[in-house]
Amino acid sequence: MIYEFKHQLLIGKPCIIHEGFTSAMTLFCKLLALNDLKYHNNCSYDPNHLSLTPAEGAIVKPASHGDHLIGHATDGNLIDKTGKTWTSEMLHPYCQHSKQYDINAEKNDVYQFLKSIRSSNVLRWGGDFVDFDPVHFDDALYQMNPARWQQIYNELFPEK
Ligand SMILES: [Zn+2]
Repeated sequence: MIYEFKHQLLIGKPCIIHEGFTSAMTLFCKLLALNDLKYHNNCSYDPNHLSLTPAEGAIVKPASHGDHLIGHATDGNLIDKTGKTWTSEMLHPYCQHSKQYDINAEKNDVYQFLKSIRSSNVLRWGGDFVDFDPVHFDDALYQMNPARWQQIYNELFPEK
């Protein structure tokens, strides 16, 4: 089932997800609260990511895109307690594969949040990917359980 996940710390576009991503999003919001952050959702479940699937013969980027197809990912911007919106560019100092990676980057609420995402064993931050994507979060279902990923995909897109 695909539905709108709601939480007081989520703003922006409706956060449309698969029911199987609910506990991960609940944890995501708990970690936001613990670090005095809000989150502006830009894109979650997105059937238009279909153009990136192998079936379409297009470039496959499952690491950051596969989980959007089945509602197990979200793209968005963190907003800190001062009201500052953290853009993708501003997060590059925290991305180990970025040329702008800075081990001395400020250990602020955003840093602590990303750290807690990393240690959650539930969520991944796209900023840690080799092909880094700092506005992306997912639960790695495509990598962890491809059979389940395929099952959800088949339910959502029976015509494919
Ligand atoms: Zn994404």
